[in-house]
Amino acid sequence: KTVLVTGATGFIASHLILKLLDAGYAVRGTARSASKAERLNEVLSNYAGKPVNIQVVAADLSKDDGWAEAVEGCAYVQHVASPFPEVQPKNDDELIRPARDGALRVLKAAKAAGVERVVMTSSMAAIGYGWGDQRPAKFDESHWSNADNISDNTAYTRSKTIAERAAWDYIDAEGKGLELAVINPVAVLGPAMSEDVSSSLQLISQPLEGKLPAYPKLSFGIVDVRDVAEAHLRAMTSAEAAGKRFIVGDRVMWMEEVGAVLREAYPDRKIPKGVLPNWLVRLLSFANPPLKQILPELGQERDFSNDRLKQVLGITPIPAEDAIRASA
Ligand code: NDP
Repeated sequence: KTVLVTGATGFIASHLILKLLDAGYAVRGTARSASKAERLNEVLSNYAGKPVNIQVVAADLSKDDGWAEAVEGCAYVQHVASPFPEVQPKNDDELIRPARDGALRVLKAAKAAGVERVVMTSSMAAIGYGWGDQRPAKFDESHWSNADNISDNTAYTRSKTIAERAAWDYIDAEGKGLELAVINPVAVLGPAMSEDVSSSLQLISQPLEGKLPAYPKLSFGIVDVRDVAEAHLRAMTSAEAAGKRFIVGDRVMWMEEVGAVLREAYPDRKIPKGVLPNWLVRLLSFANPPLKQILPELGQERDFSNDRLKQVLGITPIPAEDAIRASA
């Protein structure tokens, strides 16, 4: 059977492609430009230690072109692509439109081509944001972010929430015969296959490269990319997974705890130890506007349940510490 992986060049997608190939599937990918195919196959071959040569179709989430061709003959679609920039745009629609409209383009093309199931990569961003002071002590898959609460969201978290909602709405209204399962990872760490890596790995590269003087009081749920890829693979065929979302994560860690793991692994590096007081981060954000997006997060924890991941998909996550060391 053939599986389409959208956004094939990405961090999560690359790991997923190798797992799909190992499981015996034929894999086709999409990228915004087909010229990325050669480099992608080179990166995948190097990491796998054997030749990999997947077909890559050009398709952009913002355009109709290419999607019908991409899904043709596929039994499953893994819709992983979504804009994930390091800096948030001024206008949220720059992320919301491609995320939402792109998901709908993929689902519609999948439906028309008789695909059995789409697995979509959403995020904890679609679960734990916009809650204000109503935040539950522990998040699970019944929770949804409130994308209308602008002060407790970024363009990215809004884009993920709106895109996932649109996907479920489409399946409910018009998806007859097409199944959907959704993966909601927390911050994804773990081994990168190339230098041009996902934004999430900055959590590791910044302290490791001495780019941070001290840590803001921020926490993240952490998961290893290999578990995220495995969850996508299992959610594709598990009968019980259809119609469900899955939080994929090991546990929450504060940035200074991440730093402690790095210091132990790399004692020769100047990896920061201290924590910046929140008032100082607020003050610094006047001179450095991108810092503003972390202000609502200071001192906040977003604990989550991974019971469904363990029970339905049978995955016991790799410990966060191992994911940190593997990223480094
Ligand atoms: P990457 O940045 O490595 O991958 C993002 C992928 O999306 C790239 O392949 C990129 O393709 C593609 N993409 C972006 N915009 C478009 C567009 N307009 N049209 C087509 N493709 C596009 O990040 P990750 O692998 O980490 O992210 C993959 C998915 O996982 C995303 O949906 C992200 O939201 C989600 N996720 C990631 C988390 C993390 O911590 N890393 C946590 C939770 C969810 P191109 O090569 O053309 O730029």
